Amino acid sequence: GQCITHCPVGALSERDDTEKAWNALEDETKTVVVQVAPAVRASWAEQMGLSEEEAPVGKIFDALKKMGADYVFDTVFGADLTIMEEASEFLERFTAGDLKERPMFTSCCPGWVRFVKTEFPHMLSSLSTAKSPQQMFGAVMKSYFAEKIGKNPNDIVAISVMPCVAKKAEREMDMYYGEFAGHETDIVITTRELTRMIKSAHINVSNLENIPSDNPMEDGTGAGVIFGATGGVMEAALRTAYFTLKGENPPNDAFLRVRNDGSKDGSGIRESEFDIDGVKVRTAVVSGLGNTRELLERIDKGEANYDFVEVMACPGGCVGGGGQIIHDGQEKAFERGKKLYKLDDNYEYRCSHDNPDIKKLYDEYLGKPLSFKAHMLLHTEHKINN
Ligand code: SF4
Repeated sequence: GQCITHCPVGALSERDDTEKAWNALEDETKTVVVQVAPAVRASWAEQMGLSEEEAPVGKIFDALKKMGADYVFDTVFGADLTIMEEASEFLERFTAGDLKERPMFTSCCPGWVRFVKTEFPHMLSSLSTAKSPQQMFGAVMKSYFAEKIGKNPNDIVAISVMPCVAKKAEREMDMYYGEFAGHETDIVITTRELTRMIKSAHINVSNLENIPSDNPMEDGTGAGVIFGATGGVMEAALRTAYFTLKGENPPNDAFLRVRNDGSKDGSGIRESEFDIDGVKVRTAVVSGLGNTRELLERIDKGEANYDFVEVMACPGGCVGGGGQIIHDGQEKAFERGKKLYKLDDNYEYRCSHDNPDIKKLYDEYLGKPLSFKAHMLLHTEHKINN
C-alpha cells in the first residue's frame, strides 16, 4: 500500500465513503449497482482470514447482496470494453502514422493521468481517449443496462469497489455525455473499506457463497482480469490487436515479455518489440511514478521510441494500489499479480473480443468500436484543468 503517500492523488488522504455507501444500500427508492475491480479479489482475503481458494470474487458479490446491493458486476467486463476501444484506437493511430513523435499511452490509471497533467502537460494528447474500466462500466450501466431494467439512471446509484484511492477522484472527472449527463460512478470504496463494511455488517465470511455476477454484463475474460497487474493492459490490448491484424487469436505465451517477472526491477521499464504479421509494434510497460518520469524524459529527449506505452502509478500496478489491504513493510503486488495471471489461465475466454456479453453489447447497442455512440459513452477528452 505505497500509493497513499506517494501517488499524486493520494494527497486527498483517505476519504471514508462507507457511510455514503451504507446510505445508498439502505435507500429503498434507489437501485444500487455495484462493480468490483479485478485487483480487489487478489487482496480482500488477506483481511478476512480466508485462503486464496476460499476467496473467489463471487463471495464478494454474495457479501454485497447481503448488504443490500440490487445488482453486482465484475469490472472485468468494463476492462474488456476498454480493450475493445483502446486496441481499436491504437491501431487507428498506428496505421494513420499519428505515433511518429510519441507513443499512445494507456489512460486507465487516474494517478498516472494526474501526473501527466501536472508534470508533462505537453504529452496529454498522446493519452488514449478511452475511459477507464470503472467509467466505461458506469456509462453502459446507466444507459444500456438502465434501459434493460426499465429504470431512470437518476434512480440508480453506482458503487464501485476499487484497489485505488485515486479512483475516488476519477469519478468526478468523467461524465457520461449521452442524454443522461450525470456521473458514471456515484460512490467509490476501496478494498479496505469493503472489508470494514463486511465486518461491521457481521457477515460470517465462511458462509458466503460463490455466486455469479448479474446479466447482461456477466461474462469476463482473462484479458480483463489481468488489468490489475502491471503489463496486463498492454497484454490484453496486444491480444486483441493481434486478432485484428491476423484474424486469429495469439498463442497463450505470445506476450509474456510485458509481464512483471518478479525481479528487483520488475516495476521498472520493460521494453519489447513484437512482430505481428509483419507489423512491428514497439511497447513499453512501466509502473511507479519515479520510473515513469525516467521513461517520459527519455521519450522527450528522443532517446526512446515506442508505439504503445502502459503506465500504472502504483508499483506493480493496481494489485499494489493504495486502497488495498496494508501489511507493514511487505510488498504484496507481485504475489497478487500472480493470482490474476492464474485466473487468466483458467478463463474460458482469454481475449476481450471473444467475450460473448461484449459482443452482444456491440450488436445491440454500440455498433462497433469507435462508433459515434461508443465515442459519446466511452471516450473522454483529457483537459489540463479537470
Ligand atoms: Fe489506482 Fe491502479 Fe493507478 Fe494505483 S495503479 S493509482 S491503484 S489505477
